[in-house]
Amino acid sequence: MINKDSKLILEITDLHARIEDQAILQGVNLRIKAGEIHAIMGRNGSGKSTLSKIIAGHPAYTVTSGEIKYKGENLMNMEPENRSRVGIFLGFQYPVEIPGVSNLEFLRVATNARRQELGEEELDTFDFEDLVQKRLELVQMDPAFLNRSVNEGFSGGEKKRNEILQMALLEPSLSILDETDSGLDIDALRIVAAGINQLAKPNTATLLITHYQRLLNEITPDFVHVMASGRILRTGGSELALDLEKDGYEWVEKINKDKEKV
Ligand code: ADP
Ligand code: MG
Repeated sequence: MINKDSKLILEITDLHARIEDQAILQGVNLRIKAGEIHAIMGRNGSGKSTLSKIIAGHPAYTVTSGEIKYKGENLMNMEPENRSRVGIFLGFQYPVEIPGVSNLEFLRVATNARRQELGEEELDTFDFEDLVQKRLELVQMDPAFLNRSVNEGFSGGEKKRNEILQMALLEPSLSILDETDSGLDIDALRIVAAGINQLAKPNTATLLITHYQRLLNEITPDFVHVMASGRILRTGGSELALDLEKDGYEWVEKINKDKEKV
């Protein structure tokens, strides 16, 4: 749902970033407003995960120039945990396992940090369990997963559902979902997609990062961006994803090379 007057949630301007000595992002521009769903597609190694991790504040990457604003505020000097607190959520391509930390307790601490920011009451163990039961239904997850260590021994698909459970609890303003569809069978994909659709509200923004069209059959993006070599080469509507599925990425890269020659 695109509303011309809606508020900017994320504004990235000419972002350059590197890891160690390797330049990865080479001038990314992206604007996402409240109520919008965007998708970034692109080949392996084009910089999609790097972009998502930089927005979330991953310390391994160095931003060398450009800026990232979230709701008008410069993100560069904000610690990763504060980014989460103010409503930025990253569902990782490879969710980490945290042995020895109960999933339930992990989710409760994260949820309470977010609730504090929103001016809501913190939840004790009992109230939190009530909330989490409701959210579990959204992802159709077995409550037994709450009593295990965070992601430890979870299958690929279970990890992805756990990410969406976390998202459902944190109620982020900006959700970035990196390859959330990978590792999911078709039923799990539909459940996860339905969860994401349900969590997308007029005051939230969603950024889907995906290789394949199949997630975009379930979630219709307002904008599709093609990333290559650390830049967004092309932006279109949801039909662009279909073109990419049919024709691959080469034609986008070629158009761009031809432009550079001129
Ligand atoms: P994508 O998610 O689009 O597949 P990535 O953002 O994961 O791409 O990676 C972009 C490029 O950055 C790749 O060439 C990758 O090898 C490189 N890269 C990412 N992380 C690191 C790292 N920790 N050390 C060295 N190179 C990295
Ligand atoms: Mg990636």
